[in-house]
Amino acid sequence: MVHILTFCTASQPEIPRHPLELLAAARALSAQLGEGTVHTLCVGPASGAYGEELIHRGADRVLTVECPSVEAEIALAVVESAVRHLAPQVVLLPHDDLSGAYVGPCLAYRLETGIATDCGGFAVQGEDIRWLRPVYGGKAMAYMRIRGPVQLATMRSRAFDPLPADPTRRGEIQSFPADWESVRPQIRVVERLEEKEEGELPLDRAEIIVSGGRGIGSAEGFAVLRELARVLGAAIGGSRPAVDLGWVPHSHLVGQTGKIVAPNLYIAVGISGAAQHIAGAGSSKTIVAINKDSDAPIFKLAHIGVVEEWEKVIPALIEACREWRS
Ligand SMILES: Cc1cc2nc3c(=O)[nH]c(=O)nc-3n(C[C@H](O)[C@H](O)[C@H](O)COP(=O)(O)OP(=O)(O)OC[C@H]3O[C@@H](n4cnc5c(N)ncnc54)[C@H](O)[C@@H]3O)c2cc1C
Repeated sequence: MVHILTFCTASQPEIPRHPLELLAAARALSAQLGEGTVHTLCVGPASGAYGEELIHRGADRVLTVECPSVEAEIALAVVESAVRHLAPQVVLLPHDDLSGAYVGPCLAYRLETGIATDCGGFAVQGEDIRWLRPVYGGKAMAYMRIRGPVQLATMRSRAFDPLPADPTRRGEIQSFPADWESVRPQIRVVERLEEKEEGELPLDRAEIIVSGGRGIGSAEGFAVLRELARVLGAAIGGSRPAVDLGWVPHSHLVGQTGKIVAPNLYIAVGISGAAQHIAGAGSSKTIVAINKDSDAPIFKLAHIGVVEEWEKVIPALIEACREWRS
């Protein structure tokens, strides 16, 4: 029997998708390793409100910690305390700014174990777990084995679909007595700057992303892409040059040094398809590429390719989508 701990931050009234994906991953692992308990540690001001939903989505036991905010060092202290208390064999964290960059690596150090970060899946052979993660800037995927007392992994978003809610599922919800009040954070968040433009969907919640690259040519060109995104109910994304040229905010950068996304539909316009960009968009379910160069590498990956100047394709697509919607 293998016990698994997943981590969920509860800062907003609605439960985000990523912790539900972790529960789907935990259940899949549990089914292959021999059913043990799937615990979810839920930390933040809204943790009390998430309990039932987490159980309906696959948790057997939810441990809540109601603290006013989820600062990095508080999250680390609480997760460490839960791991020491519950002694799970596997810990799954979301690969996000908090856990992928801070909580996961620090926890691995404190527990003297290895960590597999940014995992997109796993394979189980007997009792052995092999974690699938990108290497060489996303050019290849490799299976990693972790040596150490705990299997610790951060999972990229959209690697798993959340399980459908089952309101008949029963489990325990308990308050976990973590001593977060004695943590004296060395890092203080002074201000959070939202670059998102009015009405724009964040990348991580979008089912459709319209992404533009250097080939768009100007900020005015990006206004046309934004119109397509608006008609489709999509989020806007960009490649590194589009961000560096100030056509799209940094928070909408897709790729190795930006966001890793996996929407149902990714429309790449004027993007060549460099490995560093594909590292962030390659797991999208359907990729449509619009590029005037038929030799652009993006066409090797795209499910649908249009070899044409975007100036001819996008306005026609906007019109067609408008007609279809009406
Ligand atoms: C360490 C490192 C990290 C990086 N991280 C990232 C990252 O996170 N994300 C990222 O995106 N990049 C990243 N890069 C940069 C990456 O290597 C590429 O340079 C970048 O992705 C190229 O962006 P692009 O496709 O928009 O531009 P280009 O490669 O210049 O491609 C522009 C494309 O537009 C097409 N085009 C031009 N005009 C038109 C038109 N009128 N209609 C249709 N098509 C047209 C061209 O045919 C071309 O294929 C990184 C690089 C390094 C070294």
